[in-house]
Amino acid sequence: MHFITNGKHADFALVFAANDRTKRAQGGAAMQFLAMGRLSIGAMCNGIAEYCLNLGIDYAKERRAFDRPVGKNQYVQGHIVDSVVELKPAKLMTYECAWKYDNGDPVIQESSIVKLYSAEMVNRVVDRMIQVHGGIGWMRELPLERIYRLVRIFTLVEGTSEIQRHIIAKTVGL
Ligand SMILES: Cc1cc2nc3c(=O)[nH]c(=O)nc-3n(C[C@H](O)[C@H](O)[C@H](O)COP(=O)(O)OP(=O)(O)OC[C@H]3O[C@@H](n4cnc5c(N)ncnc54)[C@H](O)[C@@H]3O)c2cc1C
Repeated sequence: MHFITNGKHADFALVFAANDRTKRAQGGAAMQFLAMGRLSIGAMCNGIAEYCLNLGIDYAKERRAFDRPVGKNQYVQGHIVDSVVELKPAKLMTYECAWKYDNGDPVIQESSIVKLYSAEMVNRVVDRMIQVHGGIGWMRELPLERIYRLVRIFTLVEGTSEIQRHIIAKTVGL
């Protein structure tokens, strides 16, 4: 089975394949293209995480339960703080990877780290922000439940999380 994003609108599909394992290991042109794709997915994940985090922060300030904003509760703060702490390094490593890419570095390891970390991070952040919203977070009135389904794709496309770990293992000589 093959999945191609926007495939139904395309007249042609470009397929990369290798029939020689030694040449596959060298990567070359194809790996560079994938590195850029992984970097882009990482940036997308960061933007979506930031959007959802801001929704959660706003809601935690405005929603009142038991005569005070829900964000005054430490458990709710924990969801937000953990997300702030995870988003920050994701953005920094994405900027660093983009800077290296712009300077001609192949960023094979860096783009896999960015993609792996950001894709898993955004899933955790969206999940927490639904929790911050309580029941309304699950309802279609808000965008969070749709985003929750959307971000699940990011650990699958452009190389699954398992494959990113495999690539990173190879870059450290394993
Ligand atoms: C909506 C959507 C759009 C897509 N768009 C595109 C596209 O435009 N272009 C494109 O090329 N692909 C596209 N894909 C395909 C996507 O990249 C693959 O689905 C993905 O790479 C996983 O491959 P698979 O589905 O064959 O899973 P499998 O290869 O069957 O993997 C199943 C599980 O085994 C793990 N696994 C497999 N091999 C290894 C291994 N060697 N080491 C460790 N774990 C392993 C996987 O990580 C996964 O957890 C798209 C997929 C979807 C759902």
